Amino acid sequence: KKSDLVIVYHRQPFEEVVEDGKTLYQEHSSPNGIVPTLKSFFGAVDQAAWVAWKQVDPKAKKHFERVVRIEDSYGTYNVSRLPLTAHQVRSFYHVTSKEALWPILHSFPEKYNYDPVDWETFREVNWLFAEAAVAEAAENAVVWVHDYNLWLVPRYVKQFRPDVKVAFFHHTPFPEPSMFNILPWRAEIVESLLACDLVGFHVPRYAMNFVSTARSLKPVDLIEEVPVGDGLSPYGMALSVPQVPTRIGYEGREIAIEALPVGTNAAYIDELSRSPATRAREAEIRATLGGRKFIVSVGRSDYTKGTRDLLLAYERLLERRPELRENVQLMVTSVAANAGMTVYRNVQREIEQIAGRISGKYATFSWQPLVLFTSAIPFEELVAYYRCADVCWITPLRDGLNLVAKEYVASRADMMSGALVLSEFTGAAVELPTAVMANPYSNRNMDSAIDQALDMPAEEQKERLAAMLEQVRRYDSAHWARRTLACFGALAENGPQQP
Ligand code: UDP
Repeated sequence: KKSDLVIVYHRQPFEEVVEDGKTLYQEHSSPNGIVPTLKSFFGAVDQAAWVAWKQVDPKAKKHFERVVRIEDSYGTYNVSRLPLTAHQVRSFYHVTSKEALWPILHSFPEKYNYDPVDWETFREVNWLFAEAAVAEAAENAVVWVHDYNLWLVPRYVKQFRPDVKVAFFHHTPFPEPSMFNILPWRAEIVESLLACDLVGFHVPRYAMNFVSTARSLKPVDLIEEVPVGDGLSPYGMALSVPQVPTRIGYEGREIAIEALPVGTNAAYIDELSRSPATRAREAEIRATLGGRKFIVSVGRSDYTKGTRDLLLAYERLLERRPELRENVQLMVTSVAANAGMTVYRNVQREIEQIAGRISGKYATFSWQPLVLFTSAIPFEELVAYYRCADVCWITPLRDGLNLVAKEYVASRADMMSGALVLSEFTGAAVELPTAVMANPYSNRNMDSAIDQALDMPAEEQKERLAAMLEQVRRYDSAHWARRTLACFGALAENGPQQP
């Protein structure tokens, strides 16, 4: 049976484990994060499918199970897997997506690497995704495509199947036209996005940048823009805008634009926070801390995450405020996500070097100024760390959203203490204006932000956290799903539009 909703997301929606020579498709242990949020949409339709890729050795291809039928707590759905070769994965994902598109999306033109890009392979892989998606789509289905590495899928889908509605969601920032237009494939990418019925972003600034970019390249009409609202406050910060475009027109078609930040599963985090296992782990961590102030910073090892600048700020903190030595502890996670890519290896090496230097300079026999983790911490354990952290210190140079900031807030509902330091250049900052805002491009600002967080009176912590908690709870992952489904419903009412 064909599906009414086809989610196209590069990662598979399960963990694949082999036991006694048999492949098992297991549900992710934590219902938190983007994959479970997307899977929660399956409850809203009769029949759903998911399209992802999997690297397969060409020799093993004939035994490869292309479409698997999954039954788990989210429902029964098809997962269509594209068998990609190692060459395709490297070219499409590691080179074009991560070395050319990712740096531009995050406004790092100096990291942009054009030479190794093979655009034909990028097109080919996107075409294969589109083919797999339409094979699963029922008449008038919604095909919902995720993220920049699948930018060309919408137009291909519409070419195959004009009846299908195509929605696209960006999990990254979208830069201003002068930055985006560095990409030589800009017109082709924008043309594909303009084939969508709905294009979604985390925050209004990205939606505005997209519309400005599209208008810089194509004769696009701005049909409607509205004042920013619905939990997103224009507070005069780096990423805020007063107005957000909601409808544009191109070649006789209308495209809805939506700015809706992904929420976190606040109720689940709250439940986890109160569980006996978390409480026990929390007690162990507190015992190790021995009353020291505890600062937590969680992220992937990526130059966009600004971990290097954060460590330098910590080094300055210990230099500037000797009374904190022996009395503060930092835990940094810098999880290597893209093993094998030189740019990420270099980031990791630099972080390890700075962390080593700080320890060498300040550690005593009884005190380590910081602990660096380079492998992922299970989410349940992470929540115990959040609960022990007096300060959560999140200062990316650029970040589409940042879920960690929201998770920290959600994990402290029963304590109402703790301070969040958040970079102005994260999508989450638009939703959490009562965090201590930091500008990671300024040393002075980074220093005053961490001082303010460490010295914040209890009453102020409570007030700021209460406002953030209200936001995180109201605009949680369930809200995001409801609102997105309402957008899909509106698409269905509009009837088919010719591409
Ligand atoms: N995370 C985790 N263990 C770790 C580090 C991170 O489970 O050791 C999770 C974290 O809880 C969050 C996600 O990874 O849900 C990271 O999402 P975020 O939006 O902060 O950053 P991204 O990696 O998507 O840029």
